[in-house]
Amino acid sequence: MDKKKEDLKNILLSLSENDYYQNADLHIHSNLSDGKLEPTDIVKQAVNKGKKYIAITDHNTIEAYLSTNILKEDIVIPAVEFDCFYKGVLIHILGYGIDIDNKEMKSLYAKSKLGRKCNLYRIFKLRNPKEVINKINAAGGIAILAHPACYWCFNLDSFIKGLIDINLEGLEVYYPYKGLRGIIKFHTKQKVFEIAQKYNLIKTGGSDTHGKCLL
Ligand SMILES: [Zn+2]
Ligand SMILES: [Zn+2]
Repeated sequence: MDKKKEDLKNILLSLSENDYYQNADLHIHSNLSDGKLEPTDIVKQAVNKGKKYIAITDHNTIEAYLSTNILKEDIVIPAVEFDCFYKGVLIHILGYGIDIDNKEMKSLYAKSKLGRKCNLYRIFKLRNPKEVINKINAAGGIAILAHPACYWCFNLDSFIKGLIDINLEGLEVYYPYKGLRGIIKFHTKQKVFEIAQKYNLIKTGGSDTHGKCLL
């Protein structure tokens, strides 16, 4: 494992559930996908709130990092959230710590605004999770399954095991299942936690905010 990836892995492993509700938010959308805030405003708010780590995880794009200087801030971890299709279900895979200049990744990013913003359009552009995870790894990143309680399946354990077999490294365990994601929820947070423990996965968390204020 390269040094940068190992450092990030250690940071993620060091963060507790409390951190994710107080000083770390690794799931934020900016106005470069379907969020409301400019990336620079997100960073300003995070600094004011004393956050230790944040990640802007826009849908299928890293434009927030390409169009600004926010990666100069120590608290910012480069990231992205990809729409994928797996076992008949739409899933979201987060990639943390990816090299934003990596060329292999380019084919995965949305080519248009619709591919970053519009839910309906995005459903027709689903990616293969194996390819997504491989490329995240090749770009020095860590692949994490977003909001795992939202995916319809009889057995979440084997659903996730299939993804571990293709190199998924963690689960977004600390997630506020509210709004749409509160309605479309088929499993408990406890179950997600137990699966993460069982397979020794990295546990991450974030607010998935699309609004004007960070939590
Ligand atoms: Zn998501
Ligand atoms: Zn999201």
